[in-house]
Amino acid sequence: LLAGAGKSGVASYHPVLDQQSLRRLQLGTELEQAMADGDISVVFQPIIDARTSDIVSVETLVRWAHPRYGSIAPDEFIHLAEQIGRIGLLTDYVLDLALARCRRWLDQDIALSVAVNLSARCLTEPDLVDRVRRALRRHAVPGELLILELTEGSVVDDSVRSGTVLADLHALGLRLSMDDFGTGYSSLSQLRQLPIDEVKIDKSFVLGMATSQGESFIARSIIELAHNLGLRVVAEGVEDELTRNLLAEMGCDKLQGFLVSRPLPDQRLESWILARTGVRSAVPGTPHRRL
Ligand code: C2E
Ligand code: MG
Ligand code: MG
Ligand code: MG
Repeated sequence: LLAGAGKSGVASYHPVLDQQSLRRLQLGTELEQAMADGDISVVFQPIIDARTSDIVSVETLVRWAHPRYGSIAPDEFIHLAEQIGRIGLLTDYVLDLALARCRRWLDQDIALSVAVNLSARCLTEPDLVDRVRRALRRHAVPGELLILELTEGSVVDDSVRSGTVLADLHALGLRLSMDDFGTGYSSLSQLRQLPIDEVKIDKSFVLGMATSQGESFIARSIIELAHNLGLRVVAEGVEDELTRNLLAEMGCDKLQGFLVSRPLPDQRLESWILARTGVRSAVPGTPHRRL
């Protein structure tokens, strides 16, 4: 943080702390208090069945409403939390909010799955599986209603060890989803060795589909390969009708994006769901109520 020695050889330190580093430092020291104060919260983005348009799950996305900086995007503080060793804490916090929400739906006879993002760093935490198991138990939510979204790098970097962790997570009944697929360096055949249930086509491809044949071709290839391997496919970043129709025609299973809905705070999600007809049970055999 301090750099430079004077030409004389006498250390004359001068700060090189720019605005951005200062902000990072502040956010790092404030993260835990922000969770305690409720400044860090979550929003939920609906994911629908591509054929029926029924809502099948929601993705939990973290938000930080900072008293001075305003709204801070997760892309800025997730990485920071990893670096300062607080990502486990943040993950538990988000998981708790997600499962609490899921529990309240269950109390209304609605079995709606919730997805939570897992940072690469989390897979190296030895107590991860235990923490997830305890969180499910604490909220009395069946594992079948939880989806954990992983990124390619996290499972391929150390595929032997993460394979064990993934198998243990899978044994809790939950589903594993490969997020941002296509941006990393894993292949679908590598995924076959792992207990992955679905892939999410990265939005960079989906956003380009309406205007680029190349992106459409990539999406089509991912869908075909994934289906051949017995994986479900979610497209994220669906913003227009043309893309939605293309994906549906390609056999993509689920859709997520601004066309369907932006990520919504709890209350607004509630009204969004109520405004639609029918929440389909995400757990086979579980009685469900039509809203
Ligand atoms: P992600 O998991 O791939 O989440 C999808 C991101 O795409 C979200 O951004 C979402 O708001 C955005 N998105 C959804 N539909 C559309 C669309 O139609 N068009 C466009 N342009 N964007 C769309 P967000 O909420 O800013 O999150 C960014 C990333 O931060 C996430 O990417 C995820 O990797 C990470 N993240 C978010 N919440 C958490 C969390 O609780 N834990 C961890 N570890 N990471 C999180
Ligand atoms: Mg995600
Ligand atoms: Mg994604
Ligand atoms: Mg992403």
